[in-house]
Amino acid sequence: MNQIVNINEDSCTGCGACVEICPVKILYLDEAGICRVTDGNRCDRLRGCERACPTGAITVAWLAA
Ligand code: SF4
Ligand code: SF4
Repeated sequence: MNQIVNINEDSCTGCGACVEICPVKILYLDEAGICRVTDGNRCDRLRGCERACPTGAITVAWLAA
């Protein structure tokens, strides 16, 4: 998996916490209420969404060394 922001669709409850907290507004809920990413390249990688997510559904890839 080489995407920067990954969402486990099975774990996402659609609570919207990550959408609310994302400072660069690249997260949204789709018509099925599942979190999606628009442009992962704009992610600040500070992992606010990971901390906000109650189910661990969203993960941000570590920066390569
Ligand atoms: S790590 Fe930060 S910028 Fe990246 S998706 Fe999560 S909340 Fe948004
Ligand atoms: S915080 Fe977690 S459960 Fe809530 S919408 Fe985002 S990914 Fe889904």
